[in-house]
Amino acid sequence: MKRKLINFNLFRLLSQLSILGILFVLAYDFFIQMNYVDFEAYCPFGGIMALGSFIENESLACSMTSKQIGMGIILFVSIILFSKLFCSNICPIGTVTEFISKQGRKLKVNFTPKGITDKALRIIKYALLAIIFYFTLETSELFCKKFDPFYAIATGFNDDVNVWMAIISIATVFVGSFFIRMFWCKYACPLGALSNIFKNYWAFIILAFIYVILLWTGVKLSLFWFVLSISIIGYIQEILNNPIEKLQLIKIVRDEETCIDCKKCDKSCPQGIPVTEYTKVNHIDCNMCGECVSVCHVKGSIGVNQPKKKLVWLPTLIVAILLVIGLFLGKQFKLPTVNIFWGDGLQKEYSETFTMDNLRDVKCYGSSMSFVEQMKQVPGVVGAATYVDKHRVKVLYDPQRIEPAEIKEAIFNPAKMLNIEPGLDLDSLVIVNVKVNNFFDAYDTYFMNILLSQYSEHTVFGYESMYGEPVNLKLFMDQSPLILNNLKDFIEKDEIIFMEEGIEYTEDLNFEVVSIDLLKEKISRVDFMLKMFKAYNATCNNYENYEQRDIETFRVKVLGYRKNQQMGAHLRNDIARNDTGIVRVKTYYAGDYPIAEIEYVNTITNPENIWNSISKDTLTVTYTNGYVQKLKNPFQFEKIRSEELLIKPEKQH
Ligand code: SF4
Ligand code: SF4
Repeated sequence: MKRKLINFNLFRLLSQLSILGILFVLAYDFFIQMNYVDFEAYCPFGGIMALGSFIENESLACSMTSKQIGMGIILFVSIILFSKLFCSNICPIGTVTEFISKQGRKLKVNFTPKGITDKALRIIKYALLAIIFYFTLETSELFCKKFDPFYAIATGFNDDVNVWMAIISIATVFVGSFFIRMFWCKYACPLGALSNIFKNYWAFIILAFIYVILLWTGVKLSLFWFVLSISIIGYIQEILNNPIEKLQLIKIVRDEETCIDCKKCDKSCPQGIPVTEYTKVNHIDCNMCGECVSVCHVKGSIGVNQPKKKLVWLPTLIVAILLVIGLFLGKQFKLPTVNIFWGDGLQKEYSETFTMDNLRDVKCYGSSMSFVEQMKQVPGVVGAATYVDKHRVKVLYDPQRIEPAEIKEAIFNPAKMLNIEPGLDLDSLVIVNVKVNNFFDAYDTYFMNILLSQYSEHTVFGYESMYGEPVNLKLFMDQSPLILNNLKDFIEKDEIIFMEEGIEYTEDLNFEVVSIDLLKEKISRVDFMLKMFKAYNATCNNYENYEQRDIETFRVKVLGYRKNQQMGAHLRNDIARNDTGIVRVKTYYAGDYPIAEIEYVNTITNPENIWNSISKDTLTVTYTNGYVQKLKNPFQFEKIRSEELLIKPEKQH
């Protein structure tokens, strides 16, 4: 009997460490370099969810692409043929769960649920799978992002994450797995549920066949019912533990003749499978990690497919090959994020396609749907599709009614950007007309505004953009003498560095000025502000339930503001949550300055409460996903005396 120097599966460990290494590099890129990183770019579970959403709604879940779907298809095939190799070799949550459970066992606080407790706990992951699928189909957004512990940690709890749900799932991974063996993987992981359904593939295939037949015969049945059925049957199959022999091409096999029953393999199994009770390990939890093989010191007792040769490297090699195939597959086809046609059949036949790339604001399902809505307003356009990975749009149009150049113009969103409010001492501003190339999407609009705000030779109070080739920008500037060439060079800078919420960002720029002219006409300060002001108007706290006679208006001047629309929403979010008597927040521009009107129910609150509320230093904004953000209150207000009636606003919004 030889003593083994390495009694763990080195190949698998290298695979797991490589994945963690890649994630650390990505995290460095994301948190330190501040670059955009798509942490879900290769997530097979996301791919399967997205494929479901595409089949049901003809739309891909937000930011999902064919890459993830390719990985999802490979996952499905690989589980049937080779077991849950993704769990044992790739999944970072699996790696962490295994490590934590091991520490718990070392401290003798980790136990393995058995019997009815084990069977009851296994239902959690199937319930989660059905719930995630339901909401993903409903919203075309990946619902699992809300609480995926990996996604929450990797993105620093970004806006997609529901803070409380994510904290619970992170606690489940860390605390649950510390005390209960592989808690996350065995009991809570929805991908684990899906993997086990695929592992017991017969029920899945039979139900899929029935579902397709029902659809074919005209029965309208949501994909959710199929997923619910496979979840219920998958759970029953799992607790009955392998009623059907699996197709799996690789298995752990043990030779009872040579095995000396030392039970080291039992102890080494991360899943707690009693390996010595099997000659072929076909337990549902076995993910071919190979630890039982690596630990065995008796030649010819246990191995992959044959006890004589251990072949412990084989599962890791297979997973590496499958990854390459998955990536290749993902590149071979492209599924649109949305693909909607609203013309008639004849138009479909004769329509032509206009394609445009690099529209960076088309980046998810929500922005894709906004794009579709925008296109629906354009006469002659009969359909639109988006591909968010390339920020690509394809517009189907009737060539008899519209030209590609007109479609391009319809895609362009003209913008008015206020940089700084001119002082009351300025009667008018000069206008500089700039024709610029490489300017099209909302990101260009945003970065141009930041760039112009940094121009130190003059003050650019704001600008507006109009479609053209090149795009036309009107810059509203102070009246001091201007050297246009300096301004041109400034706009053509290669990069900008700017701060946002205390973080420094660097952005590459590529604007190219074709012409720059000082216009003869000027614009008055008031006209400029009326042009730039983005009014806000929203009700809250069941406004519609109150009679008009119960509602009064508290009116204040707004001093110093910038992103008024968004900030109006933030203000309402804070004050309406804290004071249920506030039923509407509205802003508009009146003469020399903006006004905020706060409508309130006079039996619930009063102007003094409202004044205290709006004058706070900090606003607390609570988002629908539960995320809470504290912001410096950007407004300063001034009370208006009732006798000091202001110029009546020109437009009530
Ligand atoms: S297979 Fe190897 S490790 Fe397991 S009981 Fe037999 S001899 Fe021991
Ligand atoms: S039985 Fe062996 S290969 Fe299967 S999970 Fe346990 S240790 Fe890993």
